[in-house]
Amino acid sequence: MPQVPVVRTVKALRARVGAWQAGGEHVALVPTMGALHAGHIALVKAGQRRAQHVVVSIFVNPTQFAPTEDLSSYPRTFAADRAKLADAGADLIFAPTVPEMYPDGFATTVSLAGPAAAGLEDAFRPTHFPGVATVVCKLFTQCRPDIALFGEKDYQQLQVVKHLARDLDLDIKVIGVPTVREPDGLAMSSRNRFLSAAEREKSLVLYQQMQAAASAIRAGHEPEAALDAARSAIIAAGFALDYLALRDAATLARINGAALLAGQPLRLLVAAKIGATRLIDNIAV
Ligand code: AMP
Repeated sequence: MPQVPVVRTVKALRARVGAWQAGGEHVALVPTMGALHAGHIALVKAGQRRAQHVVVSIFVNPTQFAPTEDLSSYPRTFAADRAKLADAGADLIFAPTVPEMYPDGFATTVSLAGPAAAGLEDAFRPTHFPGVATVVCKLFTQCRPDIALFGEKDYQQLQVVKHLARDLDLDIKVIGVPTVREPDGLAMSSRNRFLSAAEREKSLVLYQQMQAAASAIRAGHEPEAALDAARSAIIAAGFALDYLALRDAATLARINGAALLAGQPLRLLVAAKIGATRLIDNIAV
C-alpha cells in the first residue's frame, strides 16, 4: 500500500492544498494529536464523503496541556498512525514541529466565552480551550480547508470550534461526527490504553449511567434526582467525578424546567478520573 505523504511546514502544506483547490477540488481537514484509533478514522471517512481530499494533522499541542497534565506521557505512535491513514485512504499528513507552530516570540492566544466558559471542561482545565482554539485557528488558516471534521466525543470542544469558525469568519464548515465506541460502549480514546484491566472494566459505568439517567429524564423523572443516582453509581465504581451535567445541546447553557418542557435538544456530559486516567464522554438526551 502506498505511504501517505507527510509535510512538516506550513509552506509545503499550502502548496499541496492550494494545488487541489486551484483545480476546483474541496479539501477536508481532520485535526488530531495522533495515537489514532477507529474514532479518528471515522472522521477521515466523513471527510471523504464530503470532499475530494482529506488532510490529517498530527500535532501533540503543548499549549492545551496544563503543567500537571500528561503531555510527556501522551502516546506518540507516528508510524502506526501513518499506516492506518494509508489504509483509510487519507491524502496528506501535516505533522509540524513545535517550533514550526510556535516560533520564538509567539505571543497570541484566542480568548473565548460562550460554550468555552460553560463550567464543564473549562472549570477543571482552565488553560485547555485557549490552547485548543489557538492551535485550531492556526491549523485552519495554515491549511485553509473547505471543511473540518471534529468528534462529538469532545463535545464542548466541538461547540467551541464551531463558534471560533463562525465568530472569526474563517469560512470553514465545521462538521461534528458521532462518537465511535468499543463494542461494550466505552468511547474510544487515545487515553484508554492507560487503563488497567480492572479500570477498563469499571469504565463502562460512565456510558451505562449516562444512558440510565437519559432514559429516566426522557421518561419524565426529575433530572437532578436522575443525575444524582448516576453520580453515586459512578463514584461507587471508584471514579473521582469532575462533573455529570445536563446542558442545552447547542449552547451548553444550564437548563431550566421550561427548556425541559419545550423538548429542546439536551446533552448529558461526564468527566471523571480513575487511577491516573481522566475520561470524558457525552450522549444526546
Ligand atoms: P484527539 O487526537 O484525541 O485530540 O482527537 C482528534 C479528533 O478525534 C477530535 O475531533 C476528537 O473529538 C475526535 N475523536 C477522538 N475520539 C473519538 C471517538 N471515539 N469518536 C469520534 N471522534 C473521536
